[in-house]
Amino acid sequence: MNNIVKPDTKDRFEQLRTPFYYYDTDLLADTLAVIKQETSKHEGYQLHYAIKACANPKVLRQIQQAGFGADCVSGGEIKVCLENGFPANEIVFAGVGKADWEIELALEAGIQYFNVESIPELEVIADIATRMNKVANVSFRINPNVGAHTHANITTGLAENKFGIAMEDMEHVIRAAQSLACIRFVGLHFHIGSQILEMDDFEALCHRINELQDRLEAEGITEVKNINVGGGLGIDYNDPDGHPIPDFHAYFETYARHLKLRPGQHLHFELGRAVVGQCGSLITRCLYVKQAKAKQFVIVDAGMTDLIRPALYGAHHCIQNLSSTAPLQTYDIVGPVCESSDTFATGYELPLTNRGDLIAIRSAGAYGEIMASHYNCRELPMAYTSEDLISQN
Ligand SMILES: *Cc1c(COP(=O)(O)O)cnc(C)c1O
Repeated sequence: MNNIVKPDTKDRFEQLRTPFYYYDTDLLADTLAVIKQETSKHEGYQLHYAIKACANPKVLRQIQQAGFGADCVSGGEIKVCLENGFPANEIVFAGVGKADWEIELALEAGIQYFNVESIPELEVIADIATRMNKVANVSFRINPNVGAHTHANITTGLAENKFGIAMEDMEHVIRAAQSLACIRFVGLHFHIGSQILEMDDFEALCHRINELQDRLEAEGITEVKNINVGGGLGIDYNDPDGHPIPDFHAYFETYARHLKLRPGQHLHFELGRAVVGQCGSLITRCLYVKQAKAKQFVIVDAGMTDLIRPALYGAHHCIQNLSSTAPLQTYDIVGPVCESSDTFATGYELPLTNRGDLIAIRSAGAYGEIMASHYNCRELPMAYTSEDLISQN
């Protein structure tokens, strides 16, 4: 069953130039409502949407209007959030390499807190805050050395990864922060990776945080106002219609059950993919069907410049022919870019496909449009929401 592309919008697709991203506003609304409902069951839970997953302005506005904060990893993202209505005091700022201008921008705007990833960074933030006569709220990103069952390029919580401060240095950095007048220490931050589907991985993070909190208490450090556990909840790329909304209940329950929050402590989440992944599809058109010796290719007008996940991570996306219900054939589905990795799927079954057929590449809402590039001097893809298409009808 194809829930995403509604009958009335499919006709509109025919009139639009491909490739383009299509965001299902209703599914995003339903997803946001489930997150709201599940977080409201627990005292002090707050979501900062990780805007690096998708910064499409219409998507951002919908998320902001649903009452979520934002997690940024660059000054550019902070600007985009401010432009799209996120209050500065609901923006958090992470990243291993914050430039001086980005720190200045964040301080000027008055963001909620920085997620600081090293001592040299703390020193630079302190210098800039002193010069600007501001107080910077900082949370420390601790590398919990917790693995996650996901793609090697997207685990971030192992000691070997570049992210965060080593657990051994935790007390030292907190004491350093507490000695600085222009710095207010507000919490601890963690993020173990992305596309995580096993709740055990999040449970392991909870146990590690419990240990660290015990250690801090034993050291007399009790000012940890927020625990931020990052994002990472995965989506079902194999069955977007079977699981259009991730299991947020299980996700938040895992934290509720295993993480020992101290009285008054807040728990912050930074989900990206789980919020927007399933509401987006990349809509493309078959340009040619090419018979090769051992296989046949469907060559579409979208390429790795529009959706790089298959080329970058070997990611799987469901692909549907919206124009054909003929018997299945086996194809390699490839783009027009001059790279062999410009391949969306190999040995994939689609109904017999012809030039001009509309093809939907599903589950493309996260790390899709935002990663588009101009390589080969290609234009960036357009984007529409279901609401746009209905209101134009
Ligand atoms: C990428 C990132 C996230 C979001 O990850 P998802 O897997 O999309 O939920 C959250 N926090 C930080 C610090 C990140 O770098």
